[in-house]
Amino acid sequence: NSELEVHLPDESSTEQLGALVVQAVRSIGDGCVLHLIGDLGAGKTTFSRGFIRSLGHAGAVKSPTYTLVEPYEELQPPVYHFDLYRLGDPEELEFMGIRDYLETGAVCLIEWPERGVGVLPQADCAISLTMAEPGRQARLDAATATGQQLLDTLRK
Ligand code: ADP
Ligand code: MG
Repeated sequence: NSELEVHLPDESSTEQLGALVVQAVRSIGDGCVLHLIGDLGAGKTTFSRGFIRSLGHAGAVKSPTYTLVEPYEELQPPVYHFDLYRLGDPEELEFMGIRDYLETGAVCLIEWPERGVGVLPQADCAISLTMAEPGRQARLDAATATGQQLLDTLRK
């Protein structure tokens, strides 16, 4: 089964999902690309915060709306947190050297991947967040063997 649905009743459960996905990523032992899909306010950054904090980052985690990417290279695995909301042209990603980010065994968390279509790498797993009453609904879709391994690990 290549999809998984989880209900997230409050903000802290969105952060906890981030922490759970970290555990699954660690057990894979390699980098991966996670797309975060959802409207403004859906919880993409909240998920990313939970993910990045559970790897040991103590500081703030904000959407890198103006810089497009925030690196967390001190973490193991390193994380690159993208927010492509203000990306003008997907080709800007080429100039940023997007391909280099992917070849380092790092995890790429990508908010607004729709804006980078054509240049952005395929997701191993797409995480979609939608409003639910109360809270949010998360749906994880595996798109590669790595993504499938991730979901299999999460189910345990
Ligand atoms: P995005 O990055 O998708 O634009 P944010 O992560 O910045 O969204 O968060 C939007 C808001 O939703 C925040 O105020 C956060 O506290 C709240 N939030 C996150 N997850 C949940 C949840 N599961 N239930 C209720 N509120 C949530
Ligand atoms: Mg955000």
